[in-house]
Amino acid sequence: LASREAHPQASIVDVGGIKIGGGNLAMIAGPCAVEEPERMMDIAAAVKKAGANIYRGGAYKPRTSPYAFQGSGEEGLKILREAGDAHGMPVVTEVMDPRCVEIVDQYADMIQIGARNMQNFVLLTEVGRTRKPVLLKRGMSATIEDLLMSAEYILSQGNSQVVLCERGVKGFDKVTRNLYDVAAVAVVKGLSHLPIIVDPSHATGRPDLIPPCALAGVAVGADGVHIEVHDCPERAKSDGPQALLPRQYAELVTQIRKLAELF
Ligand code: PEP
Ligand code: MN
Repeated sequence: LASREAHPQASIVDVGGIKIGGGNLAMIAGPCAVEEPERMMDIAAAVKKAGANIYRGGAYKPRTSPYAFQGSGEEGLKILREAGDAHGMPVVTEVMDPRCVEIVDQYADMIQIGARNMQNFVLLTEVGRTRKPVLLKRGMSATIEDLLMSAEYILSQGNSQVVLCERGVKGFDKVTRNLYDVAAVAVVKGLSHLPIIVDPSHATGRPDLIPPCALAGVAVGADGVHIEVHDCPERAKSDGPQALLPRQYAELVTQIRKLAELF
């Protein structure tokens, strides 16, 4: 179902009125984790003004350490929803547990499957049973074939609204957080009709590399960019060191729009 042969024309996924694919770019931005209501409102206002069209934030966070902040759960879903509504943006948030799919479906316009759960087949089946667009991130040691087979799990349940995301794979060099596989975007475009976006925030983990790597993604054909933005990165509850400031994000959006005009 994910293949180009099955469906030669590029698919367009509609996230609360925002189209992704077929020349429509998703500009997903927001903090890593959902934070306090006021801060979520401020960041929403800033990214919207900068040109974002979908707001992100994790209410359920997959943290390496069980002692690190795990997210604010349903309270976080409400805060994200309210901030998105207040600033006219649909919202995307991660689900990690099949038991939470129903509640995330109630609050979000798009359900994210994170890298760590890309092959959680029970979870994929569960989101496949909803009719909500799904943002499926590539696992950190998943091949492109693995990614497309995971998309197949969702599609085979009758949910045709899948957007893929290249967010870097495990590399041997710690100079970047992960190894950004920008060629994967072009490969996926050849194999599948599904939209694919890039996440240079998690791929590189470095604010200095995020803008050029976002542009590289768009240059190879990505249908959007997913960027972590925070107005006070040193205070962020998670992934602060890789957050762009709103003004840096605004500058990047301007560059992306200029580049996209060439295609
Ligand atoms: C995220 O988007 O905040 C996240 C945890 O990403 P990934 O699953 O790609 O690591
Ligand atoms: Mn993050």
